[in-house]
Amino acid sequence: MALMTGEQYIESMRKLNLQVYMFGKKVENVVDDPILRPSLNSVRMTYDLAQKPEYEDLMTATSSLTGEKINRFTHIHQSTQDLMNKVKMQRLLGQKTAACFQRCVGMDASNAVFSTTYEIDQKYGTHYHENFKKFLTRVQQNDFTVDGAMTDPKGDRSKAPHAQDDPDMYLHVVERRPDGVVVRGAKAHQTGFINSHEVIVMPTISMREADKDYAISFCCPTDAEGIFMIVGRQSCDTRKLEGAPMDTGNPEFGGTEALVIFDNVFIPNDQIFLNGEVEFAGMMVERFAGYHRQSYGGCKVGVGDVLIGAAALAADYNGCSSASHIKDKIIEMQHLNETLFGCGIACSALGTKTKAGNYLIDMLLANVCKQNVTRFPYEIVRLAEDIAGGLVVTAPSEIDLRDSKIGPYVDKYLKGISAVSTENRLKVLRLIENLCLGTAAVGYRTESMHGAGSPQAQRIMISRQGNLEMKKNLAKAIAHIEE
Ligand code: SF4
Ligand code: FE
Repeated sequence: MALMTGEQYIESMRKLNLQVYMFGKKVENVVDDPILRPSLNSVRMTYDLAQKPEYEDLMTATSSLTGEKINRFTHIHQSTQDLMNKVKMQRLLGQKTAACFQRCVGMDASNAVFSTTYEIDQKYGTHYHENFKKFLTRVQQNDFTVDGAMTDPKGDRSKAPHAQDDPDMYLHVVERRPDGVVVRGAKAHQTGFINSHEVIVMPTISMREADKDYAISFCCPTDAEGIFMIVGRQSCDTRKLEGAPMDTGNPEFGGTEALVIFDNVFIPNDQIFLNGEVEFAGMMVERFAGYHRQSYGGCKVGVGDVLIGAAALAADYNGCSSASHIKDKIIEMQHLNETLFGCGIACSALGTKTKAGNYLIDMLLANVCKQNVTRFPYEIVRLAEDIAGGLVVTAPSEIDLRDSKIGPYVDKYLKGISAVSTENRLKVLRLIENLCLGTAAVGYRTESMHGAGSPQAQRIMISRQGNLEMKKNLAKAIAHIEE
């Protein structure tokens, strides 16, 4: 089976034995839980769109491993065109879900691990690249969704992994056996874990010799013995339980995050991609982060398209869309959004071939892309709130609108232009609330800040990649300075 349908994906998730906890209880039916389901629907869209002929070029690719047609989310990038198609695909998915569709993390981890394992094997004669190709072939043939788990809890940020008071603050090897290793620790902010079949675990920072047990990368099923998840809260998450879908703003899609615990999980040797070769931990981290910072030039732009559309609709429904300042604000939102897309495309177009043969984005531009994503969506949100008006945060619930006694008053007094129903006006304002205030936290505003690394992480990479010495020499040459 090279491509699963959306329905087959949902059914395949039912077969997993995921250990998920929420509000202090174990979730018995993860697939149908009303709080978790919108997040599953977002991943499902990566399968549904791959079935549509009009999206075939973007959503599918030819496997470099098997020659078969596969979902692009499981693809190893073979060219700069592949890198650009990835960004376009993410923009499309953002437009269709207005949420985080999660599957990019595994794609980005796969491409980072593919090239890094090749270089580790070259230096040490290990077999990590073969391990990885075997894993990825299985992923492609089954059309699995793969999570990429990088972020450790990190405890005291001033201390290295081995120096933490609690040694589990970074995931590490606690036992070495002839047939594999046992690992313990946790990965935080895991958006796609609950909706994935498999996970690629990677270290979260560069490491030194003393951190050897922490320099570990591997794959395993998400329901492996010893793994369990604790779902993160989101503002307004229980609105999904109130029987008023309108109040969620985006009734069908969303994203859910979890703290994932690895409580003494056994990893067989052939699932290991890095094991103590400390100097390669940094390479794996930087490449994964680079790919995921490119990704934000796609997904956030697609969600931005929805928000710009919602703000323009709100203006129409208020009867003010021809006001010159409203038009100008919408132009500004578009300018900012397309600038982010330009960054995503640019770091792809300037990508280069790795020693392993896949394509890596331009690291400097990928970090500039994400740095802009930590800012521009905030300005886009500010403008959307400005255009939408205060009703975004003061509107009564759908239940009030539907009430036989007070509903007619809500309907009468919250109406905008006569041609549009109050219901439709409230729907678009709820969508704006969802995207701007984070009632579906995973997808736009706060994720733009911290997803794929907080702003300072990009500034460190920009300072490393910026080639300041070369620029000083340029200035010296122009000014005829001789030292
Ligand atoms: Fe994909 Fe964007 Fe979600 Fe990351 S934040 S997994 S790039 S949709
Ligand atoms: Fe993200």
